[in-house]
Amino acid sequence: MSELLAMLTGGAPPMSGDMIRSTSKAKITPGDVAACMTAVDRHTYLYALAKFCLDTSGWNELKLHAIHEAREFNWSGRDDERHVVELLAMVALHNSLAPNKCKSCKGTGVVDQTQQCMKCQGTGNARMSDYLLSTLIDAGRWRTKKVWMLRYKLLCSQYQAREDEINVAIHRGLRD
Ligand SMILES: [Zn+2]
Repeated sequence: MSELLAMLTGGAPPMSGDMIRSTSKAKITPGDVAACMTAVDRHTYLYALAKFCLDTSGWNELKLHAIHEAREFNWSGRDDERHVVELLAMVALHNSLAPNKCKSCKGTGVVDQTQQCMKCQGTGNARMSDYLLSTLIDAGRWRTKKVWMLRYKLLCSQYQAREDEINVAIHRGLRD
């Protein structure tokens, strides 16, 4: 995550005094973020509001977008797994909005000051286990491991791509 986005999220690592002083004169408000989101799609816009502005007024619509996106993959060939797709969409959305921090590096992605954390590959986020995901989506553990985990990662990567897009939009918007 960029420094800019980190400033806006509740889950950001604590900033040093120096950093706060150097950024305070160019403080970015939620309104600024929303104003920068003119060129992104609705799903991305609502995600940006929820994640970086902690604005949940569009939450119900955001959930519908998340479920719609997951359904578009036509994963549920089995009737008994239709609800799993919806649960998977919710878990991916929730975990992208508020990722659990990696315990090894306390969410910083770095250990011993300079080394990339091997446990989370420097992302700072805790890895989703097969067991936890199977519990959250109400699916069998074997099928979660073989099938749903990859789909979960795909949905999460979509949110990662959205964050990159939001980051670009904010930079462009603040420059204009
Ligand atoms: Zn880590």
